[in-house]
Amino acid sequence: MIDQRLPALIEAALLKKPRATLPKVLDGLYQSESDDARRRIARHGIWLSFIMYLLFSVTDAVLIPDVAPYSITARVLVGLIILPVFEVQYHRHQSSSALDLTCAVALVVAYLAWLFTSLQTQYVENFSYYMFYGCIFMMGANLFFSFKFSLSVMSSTAILISVLTALYLLPGSTTYRVTLATFYLSCFAFTTYVNWKLNKERFSVFLNSMKARFQQTEAVQRGEALLKLSRTDALTGVANRRAVDEKLRDFWDDWQMLGMSFSAILVDVDFFKKFNDFYGHQEGDHCLRLVADALSDVINKHHGFMGRYGGEEFIILAPTNTQEEVTSLAEEIRLAVERLGVKHELRRDGITDVTVSVGAALVRPRSDNKVERIIHEADRALYNAKASGRNCTRVFDPNDPANSDETENIAALLRVATRDRLVSLVYQPIQHTASGETEAVEALMRLRMLDGTLILPSQFIPVAERTGAILDLGLWAIRTVCQDLLVDGHVSLVSVNVSPIQLKAPGFAASVAAILDEHGVSGSKLAFEITEGLDMEMHSDVLRCIADLKRLGVRIWLDDFGTGFAGLSWLRLIDFDTVKIDRSFLHDSHTSRGKAMLRDIVGLVRNRGHSVLIEGVETDEHVAVVQELAIDKVQGFHVGRPVSAKQFQGRFPIDPHLHRYLRPA
Ligand code: C2E
Ligand code: CA
Ligand code: CA
Repeated sequence: MIDQRLPALIEAALLKKPRATLPKVLDGLYQSESDDARRRIARHGIWLSFIMYLLFSVTDAVLIPDVAPYSITARVLVGLIILPVFEVQYHRHQSSSALDLTCAVALVVAYLAWLFTSLQTQYVENFSYYMFYGCIFMMGANLFFSFKFSLSVMSSTAILISVLTALYLLPGSTTYRVTLATFYLSCFAFTTYVNWKLNKERFSVFLNSMKARFQQTEAVQRGEALLKLSRTDALTGVANRRAVDEKLRDFWDDWQMLGMSFSAILVDVDFFKKFNDFYGHQEGDHCLRLVADALSDVINKHHGFMGRYGGEEFIILAPTNTQEEVTSLAEEIRLAVERLGVKHELRRDGITDVTVSVGAALVRPRSDNKVERIIHEADRALYNAKASGRNCTRVFDPNDPANSDETENIAALLRVATRDRLVSLVYQPIQHTASGETEAVEALMRLRMLDGTLILPSQFIPVAERTGAILDLGLWAIRTVCQDLLVDGHVSLVSVNVSPIQLKAPGFAASVAAILDEHGVSGSKLAFEITEGLDMEMHSDVLRCIADLKRLGVRIWLDDFGTGFAGLSWLRLIDFDTVKIDRSFLHDSHTSRGKAMLRDIVGLVRNRGHSVLIEGVETDEHVAVVQELAIDKVQGFHVGRPVSAKQFQGRFPIDPHLHRYLRPA
């Protein structure tokens, strides 16, 4: 455990405060940090000095041959006693201080053994020179080993005292004594000084290396913290999109190189905008955190990865091998959120808790192997889950025709549709029943492939909605309607189908205003038909957009009434100008039950003050029903099929074969 104060202490120590005043903690650290190295140095030192010590047996034999047997025996004995002691200490992992102490004692003992045996020699002159060699022991104590300063001083002082005592006891000339004593003293002073410097130097090297280490650790930690921050979603604390993208690459590479299959699972909180609107943003944030935690719990069990992908959308990457595995994991995720039991009272689909829609896709070999592919497929699955009423899971099925390459082709076609004039509008008359006059026309979109083959709106509109192409196409349609029919006043009202996605898109009403302005057309010549699709969340943005459109004079019609689940609440929320009753009701009216149903619906709509329009008028029987129920407006093949703009430009009626109920203008 690193002491928090250490960096400051090291800084202070480096600013040359005397070492004595430094806290023990630094000294202790110094000892423990260098302990291993110093233990090894001590061991090398003691063995090397022992070998040297033995080699000096040769000088013993040459200079003091009479006592050499004793001195050499002493040398061997010292080694035989000290070295085993040292080795035992070393192998018992005793500290470097203990080993140093043994070395210091060995040094002094070795010196005394040599001194004591040599003193007995008859070769006094030789010995007087030989005495100078004793300094080597002092050098050993101060310079050769790396003793602590105090130990060095103590051992070299012991050697100094021994030699001075010997000098005092031995006969000899004063000159000799003075020379030897001063030699030893200066050697003592000199080596002690060098030793002190060395110790200081070693300590400061230690401090500097500690400082560098702290700085390094700090830099690494700071870097790690920054990295973590840049990959974390601030609100939920899970990985953010950037981290997810990186992780996706890893999963992808593992799949490509090692064949480790995985799935991408997109999780979207249902009706979250509504939740935010109703409970407030703080609760909304809290809800997202709870969902994130629940997802994390599930995914940790599956060794997967989880992150926030944007707004109320999360993504999970998990190792999976089969569609079944993916399906069960997706369901486990959905259930985990449902079990949270977070209240969401205002969602109007019968459920009162927060739930999620889950779309998943398993990697699969394809010719165009791109990592984005799996996200795209998971997104399609999520779209399907939402379109199926939410709070459910869908796994991308490559064998589903809706996921076919044909759909992909349509998506590609839509991207260039307006530029390459692949898209066009046809117009179908809407007749005022009482007067028989064409009161309005409905604009219907057509798409052609490059070879001219027609694609049905039921095929391309859902693709356009899913890919977002509907936004541009929708504005293009309004612009075209203005140019084709409204600028020159060919018809007085054109109804245009508007997808809920357009109403949710920011700035839609402003774009409509700009188009009207650009063509000098009044908004009152336009009606927008809105379908109460499943994907339509009646949140404030949509209501605001509708209010803005109404201010422009644009009429708002409800299309396909009776087919969606929210129709009635819609009638309450929005003041529709006209309600179009879905053709299925008319087509069922040949039974008495069906007719009663139609009558009830017409009554309901009329009582609410809306104008009633029925679509799908195909036969004389249908016409009879329309007359019986006194429905305001009719539309259908019996009245007129959708035709090109040209047929409305200049002449009425539209098509003499199909206008039985149209009076010539
Ligand atoms: P819708 O708005 O209900 O349009 C009426 C559909 O019924 C048209 O099909 C029209 O051709 C067809 N129809 C008209 N009279 C009869 C009839 O008497 N009997 C039968 N069986 N069908 C009749 P279409 O043109 O294929 O359009 C299908 C759907 O595509 C439309 O349904 C509408 O929801 C969507 N759509 C078409 N154009 C656009 C557009 O510009 N924007 C958007 N967002 N959706 C569009
Ligand atoms: Ca319509
Ligand atoms: Ca319709």
